[in-house]
Amino acid sequence: MKKFIFFSFVVTSLLSPLVLAEQVNLYSARKEALIKPLLDKFTQQTGISVNLVTGKADNLITRLKSEGKYSPADLLITTDVGRLYRAKQQGLTQQITLSEAVATVPSQFRDEQGHWLGLSLRARPIMVAANSVNAQTITSLEDLADPQWKGRVCIRSSNNIYNQSMVAALIAQLGESATQQWVNDFVKNFARPPQGGDRDQIKAVAAGLCDLAIANTYYLAGMLSSDDETTQQQAKKVTVIWPNQNSRGAHINISGVALAKHAPNKESALLLIDFLLSQESQLWYATANHEYPVLDGVAWSDILQSFGQFKTEQVPLGQLGELNAAAVQLMDRAGWK
Ligand code: FE
Repeated sequence: MKKFIFFSFVVTSLLSPLVLAEQVNLYSARKEALIKPLLDKFTQQTGISVNLVTGKADNLITRLKSEGKYSPADLLITTDVGRLYRAKQQGLTQQITLSEAVATVPSQFRDEQGHWLGLSLRARPIMVAANSVNAQTITSLEDLADPQWKGRVCIRSSNNIYNQSMVAALIAQLGESATQQWVNDFVKNFARPPQGGDRDQIKAVAAGLCDLAIANTYYLAGMLSSDDETTQQQAKKVTVIWPNQNSRGAHINISGVALAKHAPNKESALLLIDFLLSQESQLWYATANHEYPVLDGVAWSDILQSFGQFKTEQVPLGQLGELNAAAVQLMDRAGWK
C-alpha cells in the first residue's frame, strides 16, 4: 500500500506540470477590466490559464512583429477592425479553424480568409442635444454637412481609428469623390479643433458647446450607468439618433480577435475563441460594456434597449481596413485635424 501511495505521488508530480502548462497567451488592446472577468470564467471552466498582456493595439502589433516566430502570443484582441486588418496585412496572423461557434458569426464580421472575427459590435451614431429641437430632425450623416450646422458639430480627431473606419465605410458605399465632398463640408461645421475622446464630445453636447456629435454608444451608456451623479446628468442631456435608417444604415465596427501566426498554444487559443462566442460571454459583453452582441438572440442591456433598434451598414468589415489609407488621406485633404 505504502509503495502504491508513493508511486501515485510520483506519477502525479510528474504529470501535473504538463496539466498546468495548458495556457493561452493573449495580447489585448481591450482594457483589462473589460476582458479579465471573462478570461477568469474560461479558466474556471477549462483549467486553461490565460496570460494577459494589455497595451495599445499598434504597440502590440509592433511587438508581435519584432518577436517573429518566437512570439509567445496566441491571440490578438483589438477594439477596431482596422487594427485586425493591419495585423493580417503584416503577415502576423493565421486562419482560425471554422468551429461551430465561429460559423455562427455573420460573414460580414469575419475576415474572408478567416484570420480574424468580431466578438462584439460597436455602433457609432449621431448624438444630439436633447433640447435642440432642430438637431432632433436630423436623419442622416449627410445632414451634418448642412451649412446650418456651422460651428455646431463636435467630433474627435482624424487620427482616431473609429473615425477612419467610419470614413472608410463611407468610401465603400458612396465612392471616394462623394465622400470627399461630404467630409469637406462636414469639417466646415466643426465647433472646435478636434480634441479628446468620444466621451468628451458627448460632454461638449451636454454643455451646449455643440448640438451634434458622433460617438460610440458604449460611451454614452457608460455615462448613463455611472456612479457619478454629474456624469449621469450630462448623459441625460444627450440623445441618440440612428442615421440613414431609410438608406444604408448606421455605421458599425467590431472588437475582435485574430489568431497569431506562430501561436504556440493554438488548440487552447481556439477554445478561448469559442468561449468568447458563447451565449454567456456575449451576454457579458452586452451588459458589462454595453456593446452589441455579435450573435443574434442575445439580450441587450436595458440601456442599449433604450437607444432602440436600428438598421446597420452591410459593408464587409474587411473593407474598412482596405480603405483605411484612402480614408486618412481624404480626411487630411479636408483639413480634419
Ligand atoms: Fe472606445
